[in-house]
Amino acid sequence: MKIAIIISAAAVIIAFTACNSSSTKTDSAKVESSSQIFNLDTTKLKSGETFYQCEMDPEVLSDKPGNCPKCGMALIERTKQ
Ligand SMILES: [Zn+2]
Repeated sequence: MKIAIIISAAAVIIAFTACNSSSTKTDSAKVESSSQIFNLDTTKLKSGETFYQCEMDPEVLSDKPGNCPKCGMALIERTKQ
Protein backbone atom coordinates (compact mmCIF):
# COMPACT_ATOMS: atom_id res chain seq x y z
CA MET A 1 0.00 0.00 0.00
CA LYS A 2 2.81 2.43 0.85
CA ILE A 3 4.39 1.89 -2.56
CA ALA A 4 1.10 2.76 -4.28
CA ILE A 5 0.88 6.03 -2.33
CA ILE A 6 4.47 6.94 -3.24
CA ILE A 7 3.85 6.21 -6.93
CA SER A 8 0.66 8.30 -7.02
CA ALA A 9 2.41 11.13 -5.18
CA ALA A 10 5.28 10.98 -7.68
CA ALA A 11 2.80 11.03 -10.57
CA VAL A 12 1.19 14.20 -9.17
CA ILE A 13 4.62 15.86 -8.82
CA ILE A 14 5.60 14.88 -12.39
CA ALA A 15 2.26 16.18 -13.76
CA PHE A 16 2.68 19.46 -11.84
CA THR A 17 6.27 19.90 -13.07
CA ALA A 18 5.26 19.14 -16.67
CA CYS A 19 2.46 21.68 -16.46
CA ASN A 20 4.84 24.33 -15.13
CA SER A 21 7.48 23.73 -17.79
CA SER A 22 4.94 23.88 -20.62
CA SER A 23 3.66 27.26 -19.41
CA THR A 24 7.24 28.55 -19.25
CA LYS A 25 7.78 27.49 -22.87
CA THR A 26 4.72 29.46 -23.96
CA ASP A 27 6.03 32.59 -22.22
CA SER A 28 9.47 32.33 -23.84
CA ALA A 29 8.05 31.74 -27.32
CA LYS A 30 8.07 35.23 -28.76
CA VAL A 31 6.76 36.24 -32.16
CA GLU A 32 9.63 36.91 -34.51
CA SER A 33 9.89 40.60 -35.18
CA SER A 34 10.58 41.40 -38.79
CA SER A 35 13.42 43.80 -39.53
CA GLN A 36 12.28 44.08 -43.14
CA ILE A 37 12.27 47.55 -44.66
CA PHE A 38 8.92 48.57 -46.19
CA ASN A 39 9.79 52.17 -46.96
CA LEU A 40 12.76 51.50 -49.19
CA ASP A 41 14.10 54.58 -50.97
CA THR A 42 14.13 53.42 -54.59
CA THR A 43 15.87 56.64 -55.71
CA LYS A 44 19.00 55.26 -54.03
CA LEU A 45 18.84 52.07 -56.08
CA LYS A 46 20.97 51.67 -59.16
CA SER A 47 19.41 50.97 -62.54
CA GLY A 48 18.71 47.26 -62.93
CA GLU A 49 18.55 46.58 -59.18
CA THR A 50 15.63 44.52 -57.93
CA PHE A 51 13.16 45.70 -55.32
CA TYR A 52 9.74 44.51 -54.18
CA GLN A 53 6.52 46.49 -54.25
CA CYS A 54 2.91 45.92 -53.26
CA GLU A 55 0.44 46.07 -56.12
CA MET A 56 -2.24 47.61 -53.90
CA ASP A 57 0.02 49.90 -51.87
CA PRO A 58 2.70 51.42 -54.16
CA GLU A 59 4.32 53.15 -51.16
CA VAL A 60 5.19 49.73 -49.67
CA LEU A 61 8.67 49.04 -51.00
CA SER A 62 11.14 46.45 -49.81
CA ASP A 63 14.57 45.17 -50.72
CA LYS A 64 13.45 41.60 -49.91
CA PRO A 65 10.50 39.46 -51.07
CA GLY A 66 7.69 39.18 -48.57
CA ASN A 67 4.14 40.18 -47.79
CA CYS A 68 2.69 43.66 -47.55
CA PRO A 69 2.22 44.76 -43.90
CA LYS A 70 -0.95 46.65 -44.90
CA CYS A 71 -2.93 44.19 -47.04
CA GLY A 72 -0.90 40.97 -46.69
CA MET A 73 -0.44 40.48 -50.42
CA ALA A 74 2.84 39.09 -51.74
CA LEU A 75 5.17 41.81 -52.91
CA ILE A 76 5.87 41.92 -56.65
CA GLU A 77 9.43 41.87 -57.93
CA ARG A 78 10.35 45.01 -59.81
CA THR A 79 13.50 46.27 -61.47
CA LYS A 80 14.75 49.83 -61.11
CA GLN A 81 14.63 51.56 -64.50
ZN1 LIG B 1 -0.44 46.11 -49.77
